[in-house]
This record gives sequence, C-alpha cells and structure tokens, in this order.
Amino acid sequence: MGGIQIEHVRKSYGSLEVLKDFSLDVSDGEFVVFVGPSGCGKSTMLKILAGLDAATSGRVLIGGREVTDLAPGDRDIAMVFQNYALYPHLTVARNMGFGLKMRGTPKAEIERRVADAARILGVEHLLERRPKALSGGQRQRVALGRAIVRQPAAFLMDEPLSNLDAKLRVHMRVEIGALHQRLGVTTIYVTHDQIEAMTMADRIVIMRDGAIQQVADPDTMFRRPANLFVAGFIGSPG
Ligand code: ADP
Ligand code: MG
Repeated sequence: MGGIQIEHVRKSYGSLEVLKDFSLDVSDGEFVVFVGPSGCGKSTMLKILAGLDAATSGRVLIGGREVTDLAPGDRDIAMVFQNYALYPHLTVARNMGFGLKMRGTPKAEIERRVADAARILGVEHLLERRPKALSGGQRQRVALGRAIVRQPAAFLMDEPLSNLDAKLRVHMRVEIGALHQRLGVTTIYVTHDQIEAMTMADRIVIMRDGAIQQVADPDTMFRRPANLFVAGFIGSPG
C-alpha cells in the first residue's frame, strides 16, 4: 500500500528533453489518468514507473517503497498495454498464470487466482482456448486477468483500449471502472482520449511537452481549466 510517488523525474534522449521535472503523488487506491497529445511523454513516464526505462534524474516510489533502481520484476506492478502480447501457443489459463509461474507460485495457488480472475472478468468459459480463438474484447479481458492475478500494488495501463472499436471501447471503460471499484488497486491509466479521462479518472493529469499542465478531478478540470491548452484539450467552455 502507499500509492505512487513521482519526485522530480526528468528524462532526456540525447538533446531531446522528454520529461521536465515531473512530480506527482498518487494516493493508495486512486485511479489517475494521464492525458495529452501524442509525443508529450505519457508512455515514457509509465515506462520509468515500470522500470522499462531509466529516468535521467529523480525518484519513484510504489507502494511506499523506493523502486527507482529496481528491475521491473521487483516493483510489484502489473502493466497492461495496447498490444496485449498474449502468448499465442499458451491457453488463456496459462497466459493468465504465466507471470505467477515464473515467480515460483505453487500450482494450486495459481489455479485458484486464475479461476478468481476469470470469474471476475467473465472469461471462465474461455480458459482452455488459445488467443487466436478470442475476440478483441476477450483478449483485452485476458490481458487484464493476467495483470490482476499478480495482485500488484499498482496497475500501469498504456492506452489499453486503443485497439478496440468504438463500441467495445465504451464497454471496456465501464468494465475497467467496475474492476477498479472492486479491487481498489492504485492505477495510472494513460490515454490520448479526453473522454476516457473525463469518464474514468479520480484525477486527471494533463501533459504537454513533458510537463504537467494541470492536475485535478474531472469536474474541476472542466469548470476551472488552468489555461487555454487545458480548456481546449478537454473541450471545456473555459
Ligand atoms: P506519448 O506516449 O505521450 O505519445 P512518448 O513518451 O512515447 O509519448 O514519447 C515522448 C517523446 O520521446 C517523443 O518525442 C518520442 O519520439 C520520444 N522518444 C520516446 N522513446 C524514445 C527513445 N527510446 N529514443 C528517443 N526518443 C524517444
Ligand atoms: Mg504513448
């Protein structure tokens, strides 16, 4: 427990400054959405939290523990990407249990957690199928299942719905919201879609060119945008 703290994170690729002194305190159990135009640094910030990329300077804490220099597998997080990256040769059940198996979790415990996650996500009847026999929405549920079986301190989601068609996207937004209500796991959700941000977030972080423009709950963001960029981006009459 303890949420996520991001302290003065900077990131440059050569002379390109991608994150400029990024600081944020995410409360335990909060659902925070990072939103901003393509290239503003959303995925880079998420990769730094996941340990898939290193900050140039600054610190990050997850679940009350500094993880700045820890490997991804030691951070107690689960990521959900836009490309589900399910293993094609493994069944749904094995895909969902794979991370636990790698960590040496006993077989009975893996089976129990996979069954629980499958029930929550409504994929019990798909457990013996392989990914190619699933629809896009079903694959997305399996990817979520793979994250929740880990029972991590935090979920990091990078545009998880952007490969789905519009109708399914709306449906999955609601499902992810319900999942969050149920599990209460601290979540950072990245999107370039302002409607996703407005409908899903406890708080929204609006980014532009590697810097935070405003952090606020959706209602405040809409009624009192900090500047014209924010107003324009979220469609506020501002
Ligand atoms: P977003 O997810 O908001 O679209 P990214 O975090 O992916 O943005 O990228 C932010 C900026 O960093 C972009 O200008 C991108 O081209 C650049 N960038 C991302 N990864 C690398 C990398 N490995 N090497 C060089 N530049 C990168
Ligand atoms: Mg991105």
